[in-house]
Amino acid sequence: MQRIKVLPVFPEFPPSFWSYRYGVKMLGKKATMPPTGLATVAAMLPEEHFDLQRIVDMNVEPLRDEQLREADIIFTSSMIVQRKSNEEIIERAHKFGKKVVSGGPYPTSYHEQVSADYLVLGEAEVTLAPFLNDFLGGKARRIYTEKNVERDLTQLTKGGKPIVTNTPIPRWDLLNLNNYYSMAVQYSRGCPFDCEFCDITALFGRESRTKTPEQMVREFDALYQADWRGAIFLVDDNFIGNAPNVRKLLPALEEWQKKNGYPFSFLTEASVNLGNRNFSDILNGMVKAGFDHVFLGIESPDPDVLKKMDKGQNLGDLEEKVRNIQKAGLEVTGGFIIGADGEKEGAAERLFDFVQSNGIVVPMPGLLTALKDTKLYKRLEKEGRLRGDSSGNHTHSLGFNFVPEREEQTLIGEYKTLLGKLFDSKNYFERCRTLNERRGDFHKMSVTKADVKAFFNIVYEKVIRHPDREFTKYLLETAVHSPSIFPVAVAQGVKLHHFQTMTKATLAVEEYKGHVDTLYERFQERVADMKKETHDFFDRVSAAEKEIVSEARRKYGKIHSDFRAGARGAYKNLLQRVSQYKEQLAGVQSAV
Ligand code: SF4
Repeated sequence: MQRIKVLPVFPEFPPSFWSYRYGVKMLGKKATMPPTGLATVAAMLPEEHFDLQRIVDMNVEPLRDEQLREADIIFTSSMIVQRKSNEEIIERAHKFGKKVVSGGPYPTSYHEQVSADYLVLGEAEVTLAPFLNDFLGGKARRIYTEKNVERDLTQLTKGGKPIVTNTPIPRWDLLNLNNYYSMAVQYSRGCPFDCEFCDITALFGRESRTKTPEQMVREFDALYQADWRGAIFLVDDNFIGNAPNVRKLLPALEEWQKKNGYPFSFLTEASVNLGNRNFSDILNGMVKAGFDHVFLGIESPDPDVLKKMDKGQNLGDLEEKVRNIQKAGLEVTGGFIIGADGEKEGAAERLFDFVQSNGIVVPMPGLLTALKDTKLYKRLEKEGRLRGDSSGNHTHSLGFNFVPEREEQTLIGEYKTLLGKLFDSKNYFERCRTLNERRGDFHKMSVTKADVKAFFNIVYEKVIRHPDREFTKYLLETAVHSPSIFPVAVAQGVKLHHFQTMTKATLAVEEYKGHVDTLYERFQERVADMKKETHDFFDRVSAAEKEIVSEARRKYGKIHSDFRAGARGAYKNLLQRVSQYKEQLAGVQSAV
């Protein structure tokens, strides 16, 4: 029997905090991380039946028509922010008469919105095999969930979630790893905590399921054999969710790194209790194993807000926890939320002070969003405060999908000011200095080709093209006083370039929306001042229209092209309003 040609396609992300889109280009890379989930699913397809094509990651390259034409079936995996691109892929595949199988967090939460032919939802370890069996037998149904398939109980934990100890190594051979800044490897799934706004527990449960140390060593061997050197993101929901297992993993990881000359640096996500005293062995073990960075869900320095979010693990001396982690040698990146219930006036200001005084160089601040299936979503629904779905973008998104407790426009205004302040060069490099002081002498990997490229690109951008005094000062200061961390200083400059590009463009879109309203008002005023009885009245109205429309178009053209979509609606709305106004005038004139 002829094998079925499978084309895995990973949808495009809009520009986002995590995409580092404007930073990775400076490193000579095309995207931050590869589609590990899709590469793992590819490894689960039996080769005797399926002929896997190379993965098309649309964040790296466009999807070509002939690739769709030549494939028998398309597989996609997506998160909420990728929904638009995912739908476009499905539509294009359907034009070529090809069926599409979709999975991942977005279809799992919003399957009713996905027009794929087959939806393989939840964790692939449970749902993929039953789908493949049915598909090969010609009797596949449309939706496969963890609840509607026959499950192999030996492959499940007591809580009914799949064990991950049999999960295969991703098919890295289907990707060009050189396109990426970092690799993404998963060690565990699930989190023991249950924060009100978080969808992790709904998707992956509260039991932290881990791979074995041997399995992880095999994963790292595979990447090493594939010639990968550099950063690896352990994309766990909470890396320390299963502390006893992490304690077993870290010595194996350290040994592997030593044996191979520390080819990898690790970063991951963890809960704030990593900074508690009883986790100091894990913290030190992480540093010895080559971790240099951790993302923490800090959310708010305000204990009342934390309590309302069911985030008890963050209570206590939050600053001390952050400091402990930094002093051990890890950079702390933090997620922060504005607009939660229980928040008091001045929250953005307090958040800024916390970030600034604690050297959190890269904070990820976002307006609270209610994700489907979370406790927050259900509560807001009950309270009649829900408005619609989340965009899935946790930062640089200027709106709420629910009615916030505090006045909405005040919150959005505070948030915009916060973004501007956080990514202002002076404030940013002040935080870098605080972090360097706390971290002291820390291990830095040898300089890579990407580091050298980044140096030349960032110097061109921030010293020559758009001179940034604060950056030049920081770079020189580091070169003279702390040359060992010079590559880190370069990387910090590259990251800032990304955040500033995003912040500037996001705020420009907002400003544009306001400007368009002003233009319309100006148009109305101009028309009101015109004498209506004169024969050239409509010629003058048209001239005024032309003027304001061309100004709106000119300003639109100045917005960063990646962000114009956010302003397009306002521009079109202006055209519509102007034409309706003209129609009304014509109606009045003819009636006269
Ligand atoms: S600690 Fe993090 S991953 Fe765990 S439930 Fe809270 S927000 Fe989600």
